[in-house]
Amino acid sequence: MSAQVQSDVSLKPFNTFGIEVKAQHFAQAHSDDEVRELLAHAAARQWPVLVIGGGSNLLLTADIQALVLRMASRGIRVVADDGQQVIVEAEAGEPWHPFVQWTLDHGMAGLENLSLIPGTVGAAPMQNIGAYGVEIKDVFVGLTALDRQTGEVCEFDLQACGFAYRDSVFKRSPGRWLILRVRFALSRVTQLHLDYGPVRQRLSEQGIDQPSAQDVSAAICSIRREKLPDPAELGNAGSFFKNPVVPAVLAEHIRLTHPALVGYPQADGQVKLAAGWLIEQAGWKGYRDGDAGVHQKQALVLVNYGQASGGQLHGLAQKIQRDILERFGVALEMEPNLY
Ligand SMILES: Cc1cc2nc3c(=O)[nH]c(=O)nc-3n(C[C@H](O)[C@H](O)[C@H](O)COP(=O)(O)OP(=O)(O)OC[C@H]3O[C@@H](n4cnc5c(N)ncnc54)[C@H](O)[C@@H]3O)c2cc1C
Repeated sequence: MSAQVQSDVSLKPFNTFGIEVKAQHFAQAHSDDEVRELLAHAAARQWPVLVIGGGSNLLLTADIQALVLRMASRGIRVVADDGQQVIVEAEAGEPWHPFVQWTLDHGMAGLENLSLIPGTVGAAPMQNIGAYGVEIKDVFVGLTALDRQTGEVCEFDLQACGFAYRDSVFKRSPGRWLILRVRFALSRVTQLHLDYGPVRQRLSEQGIDQPSAQDVSAAICSIRREKLPDPAELGNAGSFFKNPVVPAVLAEHIRLTHPALVGYPQADGQVKLAAGWLIEQAGWKGYRDGDAGVHQKQALVLVNYGQASGGQLHGLAQKIQRDILERFGVALEMEPNLY
C-alpha cells in the first residue's frame, strides 16, 4: 500500500480549535487510488473511517476510535474556457484560500467573496460555505464523490447537491459521500457582489471606486483579519452557531423588548436573525470559563485559550444554547461537526 497508516496520532495540528485528542489510526490520501486503498484497509480491519480536510469545522470531544483519513490530493485544472466563462476543477485536498487566489491570479472572478475561509476544496460543498453575500452554490457546476456504501464514483450537479444555508445532501448523510474533486463556473467578465457588510465602504476608504475581483478579495481579507481570530494564534472554528431562521411573529415579539434586533426577511416569510447579536445581547461576549471562551470581539466565535477540551467547549456551547432559548425562544444550531 502506498499510503502510510500511523497509530495514536495527535490531532492537535489537524483541527483549528487546537484540541488535543488522538486518532487511533491516521493516514493522508494523495490520490483516488490511495483513498480506495485506505478504505479497503480500514474495511478489512472493521475500523470506522472519519474523513477530514483542514479540520476547520470540527469539534473533537474524545479520542477518535477510527481511521482518520485526511484528504491531501492536489491539482487544479481548467476544464473548459470559452473566453467568458471558465470551468475550473480542483482536487479535494487543495487548501481553499490558495485555490481562490489561484483563480483570481488567472483572471477568473466568482470566488473573491469567499477569500480567506480556512479548509479544503473537498469540504467546501459539505456546508455550502458562504461569506459576504456569496455561497459556493452560486458558482458551483458539479463534483465527483465516492459512495462509501457501494464503492461507486458518482457525479453530482447543482440540483443533486441539495444546497441550502450551511447545508447539503452530503452534510445530511454523514459519512456516506467522500468528495474527490469539485468544479466551479467562473467568469472572465467581472460581476461583483459588494453590497454585503462593509465591503463597498472598505473599498471606497481605499479610494477604489472601480474595483477588480482582486481588490474585492483584498478588502474582504482585511475585514476578516480584523473581525475573526486567526486559528494559528487562538484556536477556533469560525462562526460556532448558524444564524437562526424564525417565524416573523417571533421576530416581532423579540423586537418589542429589543428594538435594535438584527433580522433579514426571507423569501418564505420567515426572518433570519443574527446569532452573534443574540449571544452578545445575552452578555456572553468575552465570557471565559477556564480555557473555553466566547471571543472578546465576536460573540459568534467560541475560542480555545490553550488547553480547553472539546467537552468543555461543547459544554459552553450548550449553556449558550439554553440561555438563548430561555431569553428569546430561539434554538441555536451548532455549525461545526461534532465528533
Ligand atoms: C477562522 C474561521 C473562519 C471561517 N469562516 C467561514 C465562513 O466565512 N464561511 C463558512 O461557510 N465557513 C467558515 N468557516 C468554517 C470552515 O472553514 C469551512 O466549513 C470549511 O469548508 C471546512 O473545511 P475543512 O477542510 O477544514 O473541513 P473539516 O473541518 O476537515 O471537515 C468538515 C466536515 O466535512 C467533512 N469532510 C471534509 N472533507 C471531506 C471530503 N473531501 N469529502 C467528504 N467529507 C469531507 C468532515 O468529515 C467534516 O464532517 C471558518 C472557520 C474558521 C476556523
